[in-house]
Amino acid sequence: MFEKVLIANRGEIALRIHRACREMGIRTVAVHSTADADAMHVRLADESVCIGPAPSRDSYLNMPAIISAATITGADAIHPGIGFLSENAKFAAMVEEHGFTFIGPSPEHLALMGDKVQAKDAAIRLGIPVVPGSDGEIRSEADARVVGEKTGYPVLIKAAAGGGGKGMKVANNAEELAQAFSMARAEAKAAFGNDAVYMEKYLSHPRHIEIQILADNHGNVVHLGERDCSLQRRHQKLLEEAPSPALNEAQRRQIGEIATSAMRKMGYRSVGTIEFLFQDGEFYFIEMNTRLQVEHPVTEMITGIDLVREQIRVASGAPLGFTQQEIQISGHAIECRINAENPDTFVPSPGKITDFHAPGGLGVRFDSALYSGYRVPPNYDSLIAKLIVHGRSRNECLMRLRRALEETVIMGVQTSIPVHQRLIQAPDFINGDYDIRWLEKFVGLT
Ligand code: ADP
Repeated sequence: MFEKVLIANRGEIALRIHRACREMGIRTVAVHSTADADAMHVRLADESVCIGPAPSRDSYLNMPAIISAATITGADAIHPGIGFLSENAKFAAMVEEHGFTFIGPSPEHLALMGDKVQAKDAAIRLGIPVVPGSDGEIRSEADARVVGEKTGYPVLIKAAAGGGGKGMKVANNAEELAQAFSMARAEAKAAFGNDAVYMEKYLSHPRHIEIQILADNHGNVVHLGERDCSLQRRHQKLLEEAPSPALNEAQRRQIGEIATSAMRKMGYRSVGTIEFLFQDGEFYFIEMNTRLQVEHPVTEMITGIDLVREQIRVASGAPLGFTQQEIQISGHAIECRINAENPDTFVPSPGKITDFHAPGGLGVRFDSALYSGYRVPPNYDSLIAKLIVHGRSRNECLMRLRRALEETVIMGVQTSIPVHQRLIQAPDFINGDYDIRWLEKFVGLT
């Protein structure tokens, strides 16, 4: 097992990884920008190294600085966390070339799943159902018309290099196709420097269902059920739950088996998430995330398995400590993402935390790097805390969540807590009756 792990991240996730390391008897190295000198992950780690100024490109994305920090501290392995360099194949390769272990999948798998056209191709080969659409990239309007005829309208033009919903355009009929095609290409070029696009049938009312995978270096693969992440606005998830209120036992087993068998064929290692749209009883692959996810705690709460610990174990070469049959799903869990932002406009609200009280009690988990007096810097993501609640039933979980939100005190910045409080009182949410477009209507964005 590793003796020392460098955590190449910040905020609550850096703390989350530190906690797993500590419980495994592994020493930790925090890296930080000048803006994060007083951050909680820096205070709690055994050692810390400043890797650059506030902008991410100069610090948390600064590969040579991170490798140097690992060298001077004598770390054995680097955990990339979430975002930043976590899905960067070049970084993973650089880490390994310098003799450290990258706590994640192989650089080849990062590269494969990072390109959406290639990823979809791979999914088809691996027997994963996909959204009907173009066979790879579409290069001309004429090609787009042929695909439109085949799949039927509406269709969606998507950027091959996509991320965060950029470079995505809907065409409701053949007449709208020309404009959607050129707009998607122009937007993709501007956002990613790559104008390659592909096409899919547009699904009108899907849910976002994702399957958590865990695989070791010895060919063992398990799934830990699904998470329902349909509650999104502007492609950002706001609240996630597991199990999904929309799936039955047979559907869960079916998609879990498809996902594990695909990962076994691929030879995948580490944690990973396969994201699907789910509509009218059918699953359609949209992408695979080759890293830990923000919402991983809901899976931990219903399975009792520490995903970060398992991720570190398999990276060190250890085999999985359990089989699929030994994974038991128990009760229900919901996560609320608490962002420092205006609850009506969603504009970030950085600043000093003047007062802070975390909720507690049975079944309540609060993952956060906040403390009273901490200053939320304006330079990074606005996620400041995750409230995760577990109950024996979905109803118990909802009642407990309502109580825990009431108890939470975060003063000095605006937060998304009022949105969560409204959301969990909405009859559609209480009934589990929502799709990926529901939240935007609820908060008045459409
Ligand atoms: P990105 O990498 O830009 O986030 P995704 O392929 O993950 O792109 O899609 C982002 C979101 O766009 C999905 O979560 C879903 O809300 C919507 N979306 C993607 N593909 C389709 C589709 N074929 N039909 C309807 N909505 C879609």
